[in-house]
Amino acid sequence: MSFDPAAFRAEFPIFRAPFDGPALHYLDSGASAQVPQRVIDAVARHDSTARANVKRGVHRLAEAATEAYETARHAVAHYINAPSPREVIFTSGTTGAINLVARAFGDGLAEGDEVLVSELEHHSNIVPWQLLQMRRGVRLGVIPVTPDGRLDLDGIEERIGPRTRLVAVAHCSNVTGAVTDLARIAAAARASGARVLVDGAQRAPHGPFDVAALDVDFYAFSGHKTFGPNGVGVLWGRAELLEAMPPFLGGGEMISHVGFAGSSWAPIPAKFEAGTPPIAQAVGLGVALDWLAEQDWGAILAHEMRLTGRILDGLAALPGCRLLGPSGLQQRLGVVSFALEGLHPHDVCQFVDATHGVALRGGHHCAQPLMERFGLIGTVRASLAPYNDDSDVDALLDGLGEAIGHLRG
Ligand code: PLP
Repeated sequence: MSFDPAAFRAEFPIFRAPFDGPALHYLDSGASAQVPQRVIDAVARHDSTARANVKRGVHRLAEAATEAYETARHAVAHYINAPSPREVIFTSGTTGAINLVARAFGDGLAEGDEVLVSELEHHSNIVPWQLLQMRRGVRLGVIPVTPDGRLDLDGIEERIGPRTRLVAVAHCSNVTGAVTDLARIAAAARASGARVLVDGAQRAPHGPFDVAALDVDFYAFSGHKTFGPNGVGVLWGRAELLEAMPPFLGGGEMISHVGFAGSSWAPIPAKFEAGTPPIAQAVGLGVALDWLAEQDWGAILAHEMRLTGRILDGLAALPGCRLLGPSGLQQRLGVVSFALEGLHPHDVCQFVDATHGVALRGGHHCAQPLMERFGLIGTVRASLAPYNDDSDVDALLDGLGEAIGHLRG
């Protein structure tokens, strides 16, 4: 197998869309990836040939919709190597998945139990635990980060104590791009009986992975960052845990029987899919993941890392540029954040967009505690996907150079 960035890029109609001004250089895939034509077509085909509600219908269309929805579940299970598709729950996204665990697993915790997060988490992996803290009086522990934006796992084996019930960490930081040493965390958690939840929002788009081999308990990610539609995401959880957890939302097909004397719940995964799920969106996500699973990820990651290296080298040469995150290519992905001395991240992003067509993200990236740790209000972030090429990096570095000259005046 091999990887042809131009052929991959050709799958995405956005890159042929007419724009006013400079051509698009999309370096904001960490916020939302673009969507390939095959996913757009799959969603449209579903809605024009098999649109009906799932599970409860007995007519042909309902059966077709249910089959398509369950096929998508199999595609997710295949992409993440889940031991069973029953362990795959469709949610609204990473945020929805983590909130589900915070409720259904978290409400089973007692006052004084600990949930351990890290200083670099996205707010979606902090606030649900703070809400749990308010409901249940659990303690929220924080793993600090190193100066180069990685989890500081020094002494993690001792840090995970007898009251630590859950360690909830990002697989890859949406700010620093650092990839977490999950093996070490999982081993330490196992040794003390704690569970591990992984926020995989930034890792999932970079190729298939193996939840069984990671030896974690819950894994969350979003469709829209994984070249799929908006409004759908995934929670994977170990069957025995999901089976033991009470439902989070009530209504629809999450029941076995409803009566005023009491109700009983459907088996997993239906127990956690109250109401009408995002059906066409799940179908689109299944198509996206099947397509991703076919790619040569060794070659793609080499391509992404080469571009990341070019960005890191270019940033190092810019006057007054402070990188937030690892300066090398080991154990990181193509998510690069930096601050330009004296310049507001929003001004930088607007300038490079207007002058060079470069789409970046500027601000706190929903990681305010991390910004505080580094004494910044925000950063500029470039995030890569396989469709990026050298012209995107050239436009970025040219734009930043000009932004410094122009905005610093
Ligand atoms: N976690 C991380 C690491 C993210 O990067 C994001 C989105 O930027 C989220 C969680 C939230 O994802 P969503 O808004 O799709 O729920």
